Amino acid sequence: MSFVSLGLSDALLKAVADQGYTTPTPIQVKAIPVILAGKDILAGAQTGTGKTAGFSLPLLQRLTENADLTLRPRKIRGLVLVPTRELAAQVYESIATYGKYLPLQTQVIVGGASITMQTRQLRHGCDIVVATPGRLMDHINQKNISLGNIELLVLDEADRMLDMGFLPEIRRILAYLPKNRQSLLFSATMLGVIKTLAATILNHPIEVEVAKQNATADLVSECVYGINKDYKRELLSFLIGSNNWQQVLIFVRTKHGADRLEKQLIKDGIRAASLHGDKTQGARTKALDYFKTGKVTALVATDIAARGLDIEELPHVVNYDLPQVAEDYIHRIGRTGRAGSNGAALSLVCPEEAYLLEAIEKLLKRQIPRISDTGYEPVSLRVIDAPKKIAPGKNSGKKDYRHADKKTPQRSNEANKDTRGNRSKKYAKPASR
Ligand code: AMP
Repeated sequence: MSFVSLGLSDALLKAVADQGYTTPTPIQVKAIPVILAGKDILAGAQTGTGKTAGFSLPLLQRLTENADLTLRPRKIRGLVLVPTRELAAQVYESIATYGKYLPLQTQVIVGGASITMQTRQLRHGCDIVVATPGRLMDHINQKNISLGNIELLVLDEADRMLDMGFLPEIRRILAYLPKNRQSLLFSATMLGVIKTLAATILNHPIEVEVAKQNATADLVSECVYGINKDYKRELLSFLIGSNNWQQVLIFVRTKHGADRLEKQLIKDGIRAASLHGDKTQGARTKALDYFKTGKVTALVATDIAARGLDIEELPHVVNYDLPQVAEDYIHRIGRTGRAGSNGAALSLVCPEEAYLLEAIEKLLKRQIPRISDTGYEPVSLRVIDAPKKIAPGKNSGKKDYRHADKKTPQRSNEANKDTRGNRSKKYAKPASR
């Protein structure tokens, strides 16, 4: 199957060829002809499958076909809603890349950037808006934007938008859109709530799905280290240093945890940065930039901040904390093994997280291989009890998680050695840093 046979215009084929793409990915094969035919689509595709080009290419073609290029100012006819600023920047980049031979203009509307500047740009007009729901709603409320001419709506990573609580904003935004539009809904998971949302937004959609639901990317090799909580940071530094990893994305559960781990890694001699929701847009962009260009080795991120990051050929992803929501595991490790490159996803799991691992493996319907040759005594990850709530009044609101193994493991002699085999406290520091 070639891009030509999908019915794309010469301008788009040229842009795709410039990118070096020779063959469309499965989601592109399935989605592009359906979208070009003007049909609504419900697409199950996770990041890394080429889904962005899957909707951007036909979006650009449809909007070019119907364009009145004499209009001043231009009217917004395409709207892409995404959960995060980072994903908005990425989708914008894709649209700009694939549309470089077309006369369409695109604008990004996200929080954390000047609303006055955005308003000024909106007054000049554009054809496509890529937006996060919150900031778009601000512009709607201030009557800075008109969505009455939207011909094509894309909801990208719809499952994540729901996870982030954007459903009310999405519903309000929909009320401003014309009924006779074309709508595309992309989601990594196809759980009931997505189907319900799809039923209210889409008109006789064609359903397409690539990679089995809740399947992890094939090229990612995964493993679990059973490790006592207190040794996680040491083990992480050791793995980065002894393997001389050059680029590793590390997931943690909390913003505070991200800041703390960043500092600890820096103390261990590893160039690290963090990415989370409390950082300014400028700080986030800088951290990502440093990571992409190799100025930092380790990027410590929370789920929400990391969602949608596209770093080409990311070799290592580490789950420093397991996610509370099992589906997030799939999103996280989708950062690696993208577009044909190999990757490794490692999870450092302590006994307190055994029940989270159990939930992930239940979702995946398989066991993730355990690895124990790290120089650290492996700990048991068997769950004895399901999480149990404490009676109200006593430590009220907190959960009591009871697990099989609470013994503190002994670090073995091997682990006391540095990367060159010397016995040292700072065994994680690679020579080059
Ligand atoms: P996405 O799933 O949209 O985040 O895309 C993941 C990565 O795949 C991006 O880096 C794209 O540039 C790349 N990509 C998209 N389509 C193709 C293709 N047909 N051939 C090779 N790489 C692609």
